[in-house]
Amino acid sequence: MEAENILQEIAQAVRQCTKCGLAQSRKNAVPGDGPANARIMMIGEGPGFHENEQGLPFVGQAGKFLNELLQKGGYRREDVFITNVVKCRPPGNREPLPEELSACQDYLDRQIETINPLVIVTLGRFSMARYFENAKISIIHGQPVWRDSRLIVPMYHPAAGLHQPNLKPVIMGDFARLPEMIQMVQQTPKKEPQSSDPQESSTQLSLF
Ligand code: URA
Ligand code: SF4
Repeated sequence: MEAENILQEIAQAVRQCTKCGLAQSRKNAVPGDGPANARIMMIGEGPGFHENEQGLPFVGQAGKFLNELLQKGGYRREDVFITNVVKCRPPGNREPLPEELSACQDYLDRQIETINPLVIVTLGRFSMARYFENAKISIIHGQPVWRDSRLIVPMYHPAAGLHQPNLKPVIMGDFARLPEMIQMVQQTPKKEPQSSDPQESSTQLSLF
């Protein structure tokens, strides 16, 4: 099946999903948005108020800042696939619970498998945790690593820049380096070392 159709099928399943408690309080599930052939995928935390209203990811204040960050790097939002670790809004914007994250995980796994992006940008702690166990965002932000033949770039959540003004220039600086990181991956020969050895990951880090 075409990637586009598989994504639509996943989105349809998400809209009808009742696998966790968030199904009861959501207005609209937010499967994600962007082209099936996107080279870059961005993964946030979960829908907020406006996302729940519209059924689209990152359409509120954090989304506005994200658009700005993308633009600064020369990207258009339409070129990027944007989604979240949980597809339905946690009431009152609380953090997603472990059981909600695990109930929802399969949708994100399938989206990643289908899109097969060259670069995954994690926005905030919860998507970071997929790739970096026990890592601190304040230490690893903006530092890409190789995983499964793709680049994973842990970034601060854009909302952090809105709540903590001193982080804003840091986030802008990290995003400004995204084109350089991506150019580097595109120039790197296809066969990358596939190792879960942290030593090897950190060697890769020094590339940047
Ligand atoms: N914050 C997120 O993490 N995701 C959204 O979709 C919107 C705000
Ligand atoms: Fe289903 Fe995920 Fe929504 Fe929970 S958050 S109901 S698992 S789509």
